[in-house]
Amino acid sequence: MQQKVISIQPETRPPEAKPPRYDGGPLADTRRRPMRDLRISVTDRCNFRCVYCMPREVFDANYKFLPHDALLSFEEIARLARVFVGLGVKKIRLTGGEPLLRKDLAKLVAMLAPLGAELTLTTNGSTLAKHARTLKDAGLDRVTVSLDSLDEATFRRMNDADFPVAKVLDGIAAAAAAGLAPVKINMVVKRGMNDGQILDMARHWRNSGQIVRFIEFMDVGSTNGWRMDDVVPSGAVVRIIGEHHPLEPLEPNYPGEVAGRWRYRDGGGEIGVISSVTQAFCGSCNRMRLSTEGALYTCLFAQQGHDLKALLRGGAGDERIRDQIAAVWRRRANRYSELRTAQTAGLPKVEMSYIGG
Ligand code: SAM
Ligand code: SF4
Ligand code: SF4
Repeated sequence: MQQKVISIQPETRPPEAKPPRYDGGPLADTRRRPMRDLRISVTDRCNFRCVYCMPREVFDANYKFLPHDALLSFEEIARLARVFVGLGVKKIRLTGGEPLLRKDLAKLVAMLAPLGAELTLTTNGSTLAKHARTLKDAGLDRVTVSLDSLDEATFRRMNDADFPVAKVLDGIAAAAAAGLAPVKINMVVKRGMNDGQILDMARHWRNSGQIVRFIEFMDVGSTNGWRMDDVVPSGAVVRIIGEHHPLEPLEPNYPGEVAGRWRYRDGGGEIGVISSVTQAFCGSCNRMRLSTEGALYTCLFAQQGHDLKALLRGGAGDERIRDQIAAVWRRRANRYSELRTAQTAGLPKVEMSYIGG
């Protein structure tokens, strides 16, 4: 019997024949948002099957991941990153899929570090203990590690790969020891799955020097069965923690920072909340994403990307690529989270593991 083959990689828009010349002025989109933050997905593969991101029923043995030659090479990524930094990007985050599954990732870090942008990585932490020192030595500035629960059974149920908590904790400890601190720890809160462990998580990282961030479960992609009822609003998270350990709000570190910051009144450190569902922050969104195969997305919920790989592989010069990126950014009008409804949640959207979280 023939096996079903699933592929949900989206269509991309080809490069324009003649984009307007970039004049060197400040680059802003239609809502006057600058371009500041670039997330680069280095692989669409992952060794976890988190229920909210890569549900095993879809990302199973028949799922067709990208073939190796479809991926941007490190040289191609570094070339594009240089153009982006030239256009004003101040921060680069490597992500995926699971970025540490990409062979020799530290080599890419070493190629990007001289560009001068802040360089960070988001990982599930499964192999971080092994890589933390090499990544730091290559020039990585900071790391964010996803950890949805400290309870063994809950964590294994959420990563759906039977992966133990202790190994992720080892990775976080190794990152802190290597100087990649403060480590940010991301917990996606899904009602009925791990919302009972919000307080435990906060207490574990209080006074540790690391920063835990609680993320509202989002309707990214089209496969995770998102329902508004499964979202635990950040306001509730702050209340649950604050009842036991009083909190006060902090100013953002920089314009457009995704996480709302709160500090323990007794000096026990800070937490973050990422409220993309209940308090949309599109008004200051300065992020764009480069997919594993070199398509540019101006919103996490975009339905279509812009093909930059065709330019790279078609022999375009840096100026031509710069003009294209600038034209895409200047036309940008995205504000999905401000418009979200139960209907929009059901629309086809690019998967987070493909576009980069
Ligand atoms: N594999 C790496 C990891 O898990 O850290 C990097 C990629 S992952 C897509 C990036 C971040 O997106 C993780 O912190 C993950 O928890 C978050 N994420 C994935 N799906 C999400 C969803 N439906 N809602 C909210 N956050 C999500
Ligand atoms: Fe993998 Fe990260 Fe998605 Fe989990 S959230 S399935 S670790 S890419
Ligand atoms: Fe930015 Fe799109 Fe998220 Fe709004 S929905 S904050 S525009 S990525």
